[in-house]
Amino acid sequence: MQSPDKSCGKLYIVGTGPGDPDLLTLKAIKALNESSIVIGNDFYLSSIQSLLIGKTIIKSSMGKEVERAKTAVELAEKNIVSMVSGGDPGVYGMAGIVLEVLEHSGNSIPFEVIPGVTAATAAASRLGSPLSGDFAVISLSDLLVPWETIIKRLIAFLDAEVPLILYNPRSRGRPGHFAEVIEIVKAKRKGKSPVALVKNVYRDNEEIVITNLDDAIGMEEWVDMHTVVIIGGEETRNLLRGDDVIGIITPRGYQRKYVY
Ligand code: SAH
Repeated sequence: MQSPDKSCGKLYIVGTGPGDPDLLTLKAIKALNESSIVIGNDFYLSSIQSLLIGKTIIKSSMGKEVERAKTAVELAEKNIVSMVSGGDPGVYGMAGIVLEVLEHSGNSIPFEVIPGVTAATAAASRLGSPLSGDFAVISLSDLLVPWETIIKRLIAFLDAEVPLILYNPRSRGRPGHFAEVIEIVKAKRKGKSPVALVKNVYRDNEEIVITNLDDAIGMEEWVDMHTVVIIGGEETRNLLRGDDVIGIITPRGYQRKYVY
């Protein structure tokens, strides 16, 4: 039972990881256990169903993030509320908008952002170690950022020659973004640079394709909004076992200093 005392509320913004409940942190599980109300996108709530028994669940759909954030802030005045967000809540997730809404509300409820395993590192773990050193991340969704800005940033990132990760690479609303970006990258990087397409990582329907820049365009139709793309940098190469490609790796530089 929640007491009517205003000071008893708390707002957690909880990263639920890529989808496998085994990849939730203990802190995320504790926050969910402590909460009487859990709010989130239907898709992410369904991946943690077993942790939601007996709680008030508020489902919301994509595109309704501002409304969802306002509801969470209001309810957290008097209740312990978890706003769930897939992956890490601070990486193209709900943490930013919830904290902006909270700031505007002038409300002083305590809050805590609980990190989660983000799609980039989840995918990297399945591939070997493509992100061992510096890397850049860009979202191809132009719902909140103009496409010209995305392209400008992409070009700046390419100059750094490090692995590049694409979130939101393609969806029904923007079917051409992935191909357009691959063409821009091809002008700057070697055609044989490894490219990994990782769909639904750590979910039951996980699929992984390792290809290269020249051939990636042929996978355009396969890439969707549940895919994260890792484009190799200058030093990224296939990870071999004998003649078989078993993943991709970006050596961090030990080979320049040590013999092994
Ligand atoms: N906060 C999330 C990212 C949300 S943006 C995180 O930290 O992972 C949504 C994009 O993330 C998707 O379009 C996709 O590119 C990527 N993504 C999220 N979960 C994924 C998964 N399990 N497998 C592959 N890509 C994923």
